[in-house]
Amino acid sequence: MQLFDLITPTALPDAIKAQAASKTAQQGASIRFIAGGTNLIDAMKLNVEHPTLLIDINALPLSAIEPTPDGGLRIGALARNSDVAHHPFVQKNYAVLSEAILAGASAQLRNMASTAGNLLQKTRCLYFRDTASPCNKRNPGSGCAAIGGVNRSLAVLGTSDHCIATNPSDQNVALAALEATVHITGTKGERSVPIADFFLLPGTTPHIETVLEPGDLITSITLPPPRPNTKSLYLKLRDRASYEFALASAAVVISQNASGHIDHIRIALGGVGTRPWRSLEAEKSLLGKTPTAANLRAAADAALAAAKPQSQNGYKIELAKRCLTHAITRTIAA
Ligand SMILES: Cc1cc2nc3c(=O)[nH]c(=O)nc-3n(C[C@H](O)[C@H](O)[C@H](O)COP(=O)(O)OP(=O)(O)OC[C@H]3O[C@@H](n4cnc5c(N)ncnc54)[C@H](O)[C@@H]3O)c2cc1C
Ligand code: SF4
Repeated sequence: MQLFDLITPTALPDAIKAQAASKTAQQGASIRFIAGGTNLIDAMKLNVEHPTLLIDINALPLSAIEPTPDGGLRIGALARNSDVAHHPFVQKNYAVLSEAILAGASAQLRNMASTAGNLLQKTRCLYFRDTASPCNKRNPGSGCAAIGGVNRSLAVLGTSDHCIATNPSDQNVALAALEATVHITGTKGERSVPIADFFLLPGTTPHIETVLEPGDLITSITLPPPRPNTKSLYLKLRDRASYEFALASAAVVISQNASGHIDHIRIALGGVGTRPWRSLEAEKSLLGKTPTAANLRAAADAALAAAKPQSQNGYKIELAKRCLTHAITRTIAA
């Protein structure tokens, strides 16, 4: 039996029209775009995903990494993670993004992985990847085996009674701190969504992870122009140094005025949230202040104030606080 067809669209509208025939753009969609395939094929091998049709989008002209007229950067949806991380403009002006990508996966995977595929990669919650277990994200209404189960690596922020899975991506944490915008083309035309609005909290529908609709193709991600005198950094804490996802991570973008007071700060956390976790609370806590140990600790406390630990992951609250204070200290010292 043929499980899926692999087609290569010669034009963007063909691909969108084909994918729009799927009932959903989310978990369980029957018609899927495929880019690097490093996440989707993985899930298909595990029988977590079983699309009937794959649309190979790699022939589309969406790989460019180029400046925008306002001095920012446009990263094509098919730009490979390696190309983004090693791009001189990214390394110079958006170091946090380069560092986040290089902290993820392996060199071989980063050569295949695309910007949009990374954005949409699935959680590593082990019950999501085990079809014998109940999982509301994989099989809506079946329950959540992680609540009360093995949840050491799962989220403490943004969780619900239906799902506590973390967003696994390092890239996405940097994009949140950089206030990226996701550009989408679909059956109703083109639209742009700030990354803060792109990912949804699990609530009662953890299988719906983003604002994407059937037929929506991500075409690019843009970054705003870099601010002068701004430094940035990504710090990732994990069980081992490679091939491992974050237990806690922090992306920091910061600048100080002549007297050392922080006049611009953006903070996002990884490994602890159900989506890339921008912390407006921590930013507010530090803006206008000097980065003393007490002020950094107060900001970290603010970032994790709403954290809800599960049976095995309470350690993440202190880990994330130390990760954040250390990341800011290192960014300023750099
Ligand atoms: C062993 C291993 C270790 C890893 N470690 C890390 C890590 O430490 N940190 C980390 O961040 N990641 C890690 N990853 C994940 C890796 O970064 C992702 O697998 C990769 O980024 C996915 O990109 P892709 O292009 O291969 O996506 P694909 O598998 O091709 O696609 C993923 C999803 O995106 C959709 N899609 C792709 N392109 C588009 C588009 N343009 N528009 C709409 N939908 C689209 C697909 O339909 C699919 O649903 C690891 C992966 C592996 C296998
Ligand atoms: S945490 Fe989410 S992904 Fe994991 S088992 Fe529960 S519902 Fe599924």
